[in-house]
Amino acid sequence: MYNAVICRYHEIAIKGNNRREFEKQLMGNMRHQLRGQVDCKVRQVRGRIWIEHPDRNAFFSETELAAVREILPRVFGLESFSPARLVPPDMDAIRDAVAQMAPPVFATWFTRQQAVSFRIRARRSNKEFPLCSKEIEIDLAAVVARGIENDRLTVDLDHADITIGCEVRHEFAAIFLETFRAPGGLPVGCNGRVLGLLSGGIDSPVAAYLAMKRGCFVDFITFHSAPYTPPESVDKVKRLAEKLNAYQTAGTLYICNLAPLQKQIRDLCAERNRTVLYRRAMLRIAEKTARKHHCGALLTGEAVGQVASQTLPNMDTINAAVDMLVLRPLCGADKADSIRIAETIETYPVSIIHAPDSCTVFAPASPATAVPRHIAEAEEAKIPDYETLLDTIAENAEVFPAATPR
Ligand code: ATP
Ligand code: MG
Repeated sequence: MYNAVICRYHEIAIKGNNRREFEKQLMGNMRHQLRGQVDCKVRQVRGRIWIEHPDRNAFFSETELAAVREILPRVFGLESFSPARLVPPDMDAIRDAVAQMAPPVFATWFTRQQAVSFRIRARRSNKEFPLCSKEIEIDLAAVVARGIENDRLTVDLDHADITIGCEVRHEFAAIFLETFRAPGGLPVGCNGRVLGLLSGGIDSPVAAYLAMKRGCFVDFITFHSAPYTPPESVDKVKRLAEKLNAYQTAGTLYICNLAPLQKQIRDLCAERNRTVLYRRAMLRIAEKTARKHHCGALLTGEAVGQVASQTLPNMDTINAAVDMLVLRPLCGADKADSIRIAETIETYPVSIIHAPDSCTVFAPASPATAVPRHIAEAEEAKIPDYETLLDTIAENAEVFPAATPR
């Protein structure tokens, strides 16, 4: 019974010159996400985005509507959406649509609860329309009351179970009965491209999700230590990247083998400094990869004080390894906060599959909690051709998926 979907977004974030860019990015992302699943047109009319059936006289199938309900909650920038029916801007057509659309929706509510309340919310941008908003509301409330005929039906203007929306414009009127929440944030891509360091853990996928929510397109880089870590460690990260790509157009995953460098660190540097040296190397290789692929910042799932490598002194020493902005969206988050988000975005069940991480290879029994910068630099100076080794690891990265359309 629907031939359109009304999509709403906050205008506060888009005031000024960036507004058109924001809207173009949002519509492009919606088209991309819906492609292949919903045959539709996406267009912007006065502060709203409308998804429309290509044929105004035909309706979306149930499968297409289910796809819309699954996809739009993953489109950052959108606040809410309502499946709607577009009819000519004519009171008889509006009454007919309400009379047809209301009964099945009310019937579902009456199976769930004894009494059901409703209200009509009308908006009229077409000021030549013969009825004002208030009159439209009263008229349509009578249509509903006649159509439902149930003495357990009430009107509640403040906390109604069902709100029937009616928007009258010049070119059409739209009627809708349900509003679903979308994730908010900013459209992916409107704030550039970043490279996320993705481990198989809980935090880094959540950090990537939060950066996407602020409009960053995220490519990924992961480090394994074959043959000291099994292929399952990388498989898990590929699955996490796929899950995260449901929120953007496919980001690329660069897969690097850190083991050649880790062996040198094991053989030449103090055992207790290993973890910090691994993390500095990861960031350095990530920076090289980011510059090559035009990413403007790095991104990690670090949170202050979570593990030995995340004390302030160690974070400072790790941070000093690179000359690039590092985003740390979880910096002040509790683990419980990360877990909650990981569950919502469905990365949690993958993250908790047991598989060893690169950082745990040759891990020290008692890692240093404060490695000064100059000590880390002196340790790295002991490794012959340290910089060349980093370059080689970066250049030998496996790219997943092998051929990503850009
Ligand atoms: P996570 O749950 O994200 O693994 P963590 O709490 O286990 O985080 P660390 O292991 O110290 O913390 O890692 C901190 C951050 O360093 C990670 O969030 C991630 O961004 C990056 N990182 C750690 N290990 C790897 C790896 N093997 N590949 C890519 N990035 C990594
Ligand atoms: Mg980890």
